[in-house]
Amino acid sequence: MSKVLDKNPDPPIRTFKTVCPHDCPSACGLEVKLDKKGKVAKVYGGRQHSYTDGVICAKVSRYSERIYHPDRVMTPLRREGKKGQWRIC
Ligand code: SF4
Repeated sequence: MSKVLDKNPDPPIRTFKTVCPHDCPSACGLEVKLDKKGKVAKVYGGRQHSYTDGVICAKVSRYSERIYHPDRVMTPLRREGKKGQWRIC
């Protein structure tokens, strides 16, 4: 478990089962834990899914950190000028 989530003051209160949305041949089953605000607190491999058996790749296990990261791009951007210069479309 990541250190960021270990310090989460809001322990998960609800868990639901789903599948990974990536176009990946593994097609892992997932268990997603939500905090009391309804935000994703942690994503695990499905324990009842024989392939994952509770384990998933690092890309998906850290979803909660990625989707709530302050630098996440939330709108389409268009490059203008030099590399690294963007404007909102
Ligand atoms: S959790 Fe990772 S390995 Fe599993 S299907 Fe998704 S991307 Fe592929």
